[in-house]
Parts: sequence; structure tokens; C-alpha cells
Amino acid sequence: MLKLYNTLTKKIEELKLIKDKEVGLYTCGPTVYNFAHIGNLRTYIFEDLLKRVLEYNGLKVNHAMNITDVGHLVGDGDEGEDKLEVGAKREGKNPLDIAKFYAEKFLSDLRDLNIELPDPKMILPATQAIPEQIEIIKQLEAKGFAYKGEAAIYFNTSKLPDYGKLSGQKLSEKKSGARDEVVQDPDKKTPADFALWFFLKGKYENHILHWPSPWGEGFPGWHIECSAISRKLLGQPFDIHTGGVDHIGTHHTNEIAQSEAAFGVPLANVWMHGEFLLVNEGRMGKSEGNFITLDTLKKEKFLPIDYRYMCLQAHYRSQLNFTWQSLGSAHTALNRLFDFFDFVSDVVPGQIDKNFEKDFIAAIEDDLNVPKALAIAHQLLNENIIPLEVKKASLIQFDKIFGLNLTQRTIASIPPEVDKLAIERKTAKDQKDFAKSDELRKQIEALGYEVMDTPEGQKVKKKIGI
Ligand SMILES: [Zn+2]
Repeated sequence: MLKLYNTLTKKIEELKLIKDKEVGLYTCGPTVYNFAHIGNLRTYIFEDLLKRVLEYNGLKVNHAMNITDVGHLVGDGDEGEDKLEVGAKREGKNPLDIAKFYAEKFLSDLRDLNIELPDPKMILPATQAIPEQIEIIKQLEAKGFAYKGEAAIYFNTSKLPDYGKLSGQKLSEKKSGARDEVVQDPDKKTPADFALWFFLKGKYENHILHWPSPWGEGFPGWHIECSAISRKLLGQPFDIHTGGVDHIGTHHTNEIAQSEAAFGVPLANVWMHGEFLLVNEGRMGKSEGNFITLDTLKKEKFLPIDYRYMCLQAHYRSQLNFTWQSLGSAHTALNRLFDFFDFVSDVVPGQIDKNFEKDFIAAIEDDLNVPKALAIAHQLLNENIIPLEVKKASLIQFDKIFGLNLTQRTIASIPPEVDKLAIERKTAKDQKDFAKSDELRKQIEALGYEVMDTPEGQKVKKKIGI
């Protein structure tokens, strides 16, 4: 019995599905105007764990995700520039080229983290769902939830009695969308009202991306794309909507408002949110000078899978503090598992240990308690009386959730350039060219790895203590 925390009801609930054996899962995708930082990526790791747990339960997961390539303004509210136009100016390119470049980079980051991607036809950029967004705005207008201002068509939040139910914040308490949003559009009836469609006027006069609409040439607001794309790809209502906790107050609140006002049924039944990643106990950001990406980790000779492991060590609803030391500890713990798989490389997997599996399932089904599941895996590893073939079979089974690729150490844990040097070293050593093999060892060590000759052959490991 799978139980999950629902932000909407603020309770841990048994998952009840709309269809038998199938689950509709929506992931709020990235705004592709810059590299994703590891805090953004933590949310996608949480969503991947959720997806794997659903699959472990024998469910077919229909997984959809948007890519924001228009309409997301700096500050998350209705003020400021479109982030894509900011990216385009910064790099002297067209917004759609910017979107394409960063979307590809984002998807490659997810692959590096061994995250299962949605089917390509279930990943939809906002710019490819403009008619669907216009359709919802037309519905809202027909039902009296939309009004026209000088700069945009707005959603009238005061018409919706349960507006803000996701965050539990009352309309009277809700300030304008974002913290740095000081200037208010004088056209807005209430500060919480938000743009559905911007006109090419004022600061948006030269907005590069625009489309015709019943209200004139313009571009959609940010929130409407998720209402439109999730409905198009999954239907409405669907089962589970996910994202980061930072989306609860505005983005997801507004998605719910639009979709429910337009169609009179819920958008999604369960809303799940992943907590923040802190860096040295603080916020991560460009201005803080600690903007860490997967490439930053790679430069420090860590692997994406080390970071994935680190995220598994914290519950998705707890904040996680990133330090280089904690990443190093994650690497060490992960390598205990890889070492075991090296050790049993010739062992044929046997039966799964039923007791450990029972505890493991109880943990993951208790609102995705993956840290506990990981502790159970290590406990199994340290258990002396359990035969190797049982340990191996059980860990392979558990790895369906962890997604660490435990049976593929060379692919998963050693960078290609190190792997290549290691192969060359082995050849040199086999040919008794010790001068060359020593030289190659030094090159491997310079890359932060150590090479050992063991009875089972040559082993390469990351050096600890960078
Ligand atoms: Zn969204």
C-alpha cells in the first residue's frame, strides 16, 4: 500500500488511482535559459524516485513534462523581463536557440543522473502548445474569470473562493507573486491576480516570440502552459503533479486556479513537492557566487551518480545541505556498494532475501523513505550470514529504486578519460612495459583516481579527500 504526502490535503494518504494499474504523472519542467544547478536537479531526482516506486508497484507510468521556453518572467511574477529574452540578450542569440541549447543540456544532465526520461512525445515546450493555452484562456473569459488590463489579460483570483488552497494562504494574506515584485500593474484588481496573456505593449513591445490570439498579438503567461500541457498529455484530472516547494505559493497555486475555474474539475489529485538544496547552509544562486552545476562537480572529479547517491541519503521533504565533504562521504558509501559488486562479479545472483525485501518495500512505500531503504541495503551488505548470491540478487532488486547502476561500475563511476588510461595501463602491464604502465598510473592519479592491482585484476577507484 503506497502512501504519499499530498501538499493539497497536508496529509500522508494512500494513493488512489483514477485508472486501474496506470498513473498519470506530471513534472514541472525547467525554464531553459541557463544551466540547471544541482538544487534544480535534486527535484528531478526526487521525481525519478517517485516514478521508480510507482513502477516497482507494477504501475504503468504515463509521465509528462513541459519545457518553459516563453513567458516565465524574472522574479516569477508578472514583472520583469522574460527569462528566455534575458538569456538571448546575454548570449546574442535567438530565444529559441537558447531554449534548444539549454533544454538539450538539461536532458543530458538528467541522463547523467540516471533519471528515467519521459517518452519524447510526452515532453512538450510551451511554444508548441500555444493553441491549447489560448483555448483555456477563452474558457476562463467565457466563464467570467478573466479580464483585460492595459498590459495583459489577467486571471481574477477574487472570483475563485478556494484560491490559494494549495499553500493554505488566504487571498488577503497573499502579496504579489514574487518577493522582489515591487511595482504593480495598476490594472490588476487584486495583487494576486496574474497574467494569462501579455500584449506586445510597453516593455514587451519588442518581445521576440509572439503569436496571434483573440486578444491580439502577444505571448502566454508562465502558469498557463502547465495547465494546458498537462491536460493535453494526461487529461484532467490526472493522478500526481510534482515540482519544487518554491512552486507551491504561486506557480502551482495559479495552475490549479486556471484549470479548475476553466473546467470545473481538479487538475491533479495529489500534489507532491521536493524540498530545497542548501549549499553550506545557505541559498544557492548566481549572486551568492555558489552556483553549482553537474559540470562543477565533474571538474572536482566527482561523478553525477555520486550526487544522485547524496540525494538518496535525505528524504525528499527535508532540506539537504550540500558540502564538498558530504559529497565525498556519499562517494565513499556508494563505492562500498560498487566494491561489493566487483567482489561478486562472478557470482550468479540467487534468491532475493524476503525479510530484507519486506522492510525495503515498507520503507519506500512510506512516503518514499529512500534514506531508510538505503540503510537497509547497507545492513544487508554487512550481514555475515546471508550468502553472496542472495545479497547480490537483493541489491540488484533494490537498485531498481536507487537507480545507481550498481552492476555497471565502469560505466557509472569512472569517467571515460580515466577508463581509457586504465585500459592502456593494463595493456602496458600485460606487455611488461612497466615504465609506460607507471607513467599511465601517474596520469590516472593526476585525474584524481587511483589504480590498484588486486588478485581479481586491476581496479580503479576515485581518490578520496579532494
Ligand atoms: Zn509548471
